[in-house]
Order: sequence, then C-alpha cells, then structure tokens
Amino acid sequence: MQTEDETPLRKKSFLLSSVTLLVAERLLLFFFGAGVALLFSVSALSSSLCTDLPNPIPTPLPTIIHHRPPLVPSIPRRPLPVATTAPRPPLSTVSHRRDSRKDHDRRRSTRATFYDDPSLSYTIDRPITNWDSKRREWLRLNPSLATPDRVVMVTGSPPGRCPNPGGDHLLLRFYKNKADYCRLHGYDLFYNTALLHPEMPGCWAKIPLVRAAMVAHPESEWVWWVDQDAAFTDMEFRPPLHRYRAHHFVVPGWPYMVYTARDWVGLNAGVFLLRNSQWGLDFLDAWASMGPQTPHHGKWGRILDAEIRGKLTSFADDQSALVHLLAKEQRRWRDKVHLESAYDLHGYWEPIVGRLEDVAAAYAEMERRDAVLRRRHAEKEAGSYGETRSRYLDAAAGGGGEKGSGKRWPRKRRSFVTHFTGCQPCGGDHNPAYTWQGCVDGMARALNFADDQVLRAYGFGHTNLNDSASIRSLPFGYPASSRGGR
Ligand code: MN
Repeated sequence: MQTEDETPLRKKSFLLSSVTLLVAERLLLFFFGAGVALLFSVSALSSSLCTDLPNPIPTPLPTIIHHRPPLVPSIPRRPLPVATTAPRPPLSTVSHRRDSRKDHDRRRSTRATFYDDPSLSYTIDRPITNWDSKRREWLRLNPSLATPDRVVMVTGSPPGRCPNPGGDHLLLRFYKNKADYCRLHGYDLFYNTALLHPEMPGCWAKIPLVRAAMVAHPESEWVWWVDQDAAFTDMEFRPPLHRYRAHHFVVPGWPYMVYTARDWVGLNAGVFLLRNSQWGLDFLDAWASMGPQTPHHGKWGRILDAEIRGKLTSFADDQSALVHLLAKEQRRWRDKVHLESAYDLHGYWEPIVGRLEDVAAAYAEMERRDAVLRRRHAEKEAGSYGETRSRYLDAAAGGGGEKGSGKRWPRKRRSFVTHFTGCQPCGGDHNPAYTWQGCVDGMARALNFADDQVLRAYGFGHTNLNDSASIRSLPFGYPASSRGGR
C-alpha cells in the first residue's frame, strides 16, 4: 500500500522516465519504419511471384504512428519497465474473475479423483468399490457439471459393415432418430462401434459398454441404454425420472411375468435406465456373471433353458439372464428395480407401425381444436410445448398416461419407443415370424413418423409415411389451415 506523501514524488519520477521512454520509443519506431520501407521495396519486387501469399506489410502500421494514444502517466504501457513503478490500476472485475477461474481450474486439476487411482478399471472384470463416495467427491470438485437427473444415452452397433445390404443405411436412420431425440431433450449421446470386451459380442456387448459409460460420465445420474433397432416415436415424451427416485434400474416389463411366471418376454433388455451408482455397478457384475466371457456360460444356457418360460435362444442370452437374476435374487435386487409398463419404454413394433396414420390423425385433430398446440415455435422451445401437450393428453385420457402410473396407455397416443425386436436391421437374419419386407417397411414408417415430429419445427413434413423421400412444406396454421402446402 502507498501513503499519500509518496504520490507527488512518484508522479515526478514517473513523468521523467515516461519522457525518456517516449524518446526511446520514437527512435525505435523510426528504425522500425525504415526496416518496413526496405521490406516493402523487396516485397514489391517479388510480388509477382507470390500473389497468393498474404501481404507481408503490417497494414495497421500508419495507424500505430498517427493514432497511438497519448502517453499519459495514468496509462502506463505494459511492456515497459515503467509499469513496475507506476501506480497499479485497480484490478478490474473481469480480470479478477478470469484469475480466480484459472486458479479454480488449477486447483481442480491438481486434486486427485478416482481417475488418478491406477487400480480403478473401466472393464467389467474388475469390480469397483465405494463408487458412490468416489462419484460424490468428483461431483463436489466439479459442481458446474453436477445437474440433477443428468442422462447419458448409450447405444451402438457392431464394428464392421452390416452384412445386410441397406443395413448401414437403416442404422444411420436409427442413429439420426436418437441424435434428434437427445438434441431436443438436452441429453448426451454416446454411440459406440467398438467391441469393448472381445468375448461379449451381440446382445452382451452393451454390458461392458454401460459399465465404461458409468465411469466416463460421473456427472450423469442415469445411463440410458437404447438398442440400435429401437426408435423414438414420440419425440416430446421424457421418461418420468422423478418417479424413479427410489429405483436404480428401470426396464420395460411386468412384475407378474418376471417374478412369478419367469417369462422370457416378461421384460425387454433392449432399453433400460441404470442409475450411476454402486448398486448399478454391482447389478451389472451380477448380470455379466452369466455372460459368454465366463467359463460358466454353457452351464447357464442349460439352467436358463429349463427355467425361463418361452426362451427362444439356444444359449444364455442377456434377456433370459436378466429375468433369472431378478426372479431368483428378488431379495437382493427387487426393491430398487422398477418394471415399467405405464408407457412404452419399449414398444413391440408390429402392432404399432400399422396404426401410425391413425395416431398422426388423432394428434392433428387435437391441434385443430387447440391453437396453442399448433402454434409454430423454435426447436429449442419444444420442451415446453411437449409439456403442454402431455397435460392435454393426460386430461384427454381421463387422468391416464404417465401420471396415472399403471393405467392403460391410450391407444391413439404415440408409442414412446418402437423396438424392432427380431428384425435385425444390420444382420438381416430376422425372426422367421416376420418377412424382411415387413420389417423394412415398418422401420421406414416409424422413422418417418418420428422425423415428421422433428421436421415440424423446420416447417416440413412427409406427405406419406411409406415414402421416406416425400416431403412438403407446411402452411401457416397447419394443421387447421389447408392440408396442402408445398
Ligand atoms: Mn433390439
């Protein structure tokens, strides 16, 4: 701190040194100008050879000389030594904030987290302990990343090209559908094409992937697995995470069919939400213990064949293993598991794709009646419009839908997720119960139906769900105004 008596003396010496420096600076500028003039003449000679190169002359040079701000003691020029003796200007709030953020980042980067523990592994074969406290500590160090109910969606497809012609295009469209959904809802999306455990291919590949995603995303409360062959067909609906406060695993299914009947289709393992918790890690470990990477896989195949009703596979698949785990070890897992049937967290595709036009017509009718629902809006506003529609749908269903958990999902309500089980879009070896054409047409229709909800915010829509290429622009006031538009 300076006293007031020192100020005039310091000002005087400061002015003196400023004048000296001004002279020195003018001299410097003179020599610099001479140098530049020399450069200019050289570059003028060679300009015909390098016309594409940027002009080597520093263009603001004349401006520097003529418009240089006057040298006043209150504004010391920073690179000069005088700055060290001049009264320091008060730190502006901006630079102060920048400094403290830098300090904060430096502090954070030096604090050890679970990432610095060499014994902690991303792989499924090495269990993690005390994950809840490790994750909590990481969240404490990264408060800006800790958002309640943060979701990371995880999905993927095999590393190689699809054996089925057209399979890669279908996968692209399924991926686009998930990217659209996640963009609309602010969820992170991780699409993986690497087999993280070489001995866990096919339906088992998701387990090591979900496990790695839990470690890679400590900021996410939920990891949401969605199969490659599942499409979002209600782009507005969001899983009611507030209803899952007491749960760590949410999977589409029915308690009687899982816990009592032990039926293979009592649940579907193609879509699930897993809380990023120690419970979640332990659950994955228990599930994986029946997988093909263990020496007991063959034995599990025989056990599950005998135990799981309606099992169609000839080996221990992930879905029958999951039914077994829940039914056999109810005491250990059941209170944290929610079998969701109040909405289509996974909807079986066949009955859904046939009634898409009826559902679209029902929604259009709703919009014709209520101007709020058909009002044009920015894509970023989709969330609040989705909530408005959800309230409308709940009221129309007489208190059914999401809030009245357990009540029947209205038939004319969009299915949330349409899952093409048995269609194998990439591999092509579909379940013989369906024709390949039936699968392909169904997928195109569902994806176009979903895309119409996305394109709506861009002013367009498909003219025909069966024709992915057909498109029209929507007139103002659609769908209350003319059905035309172009
Ligand atoms: Mn699937």
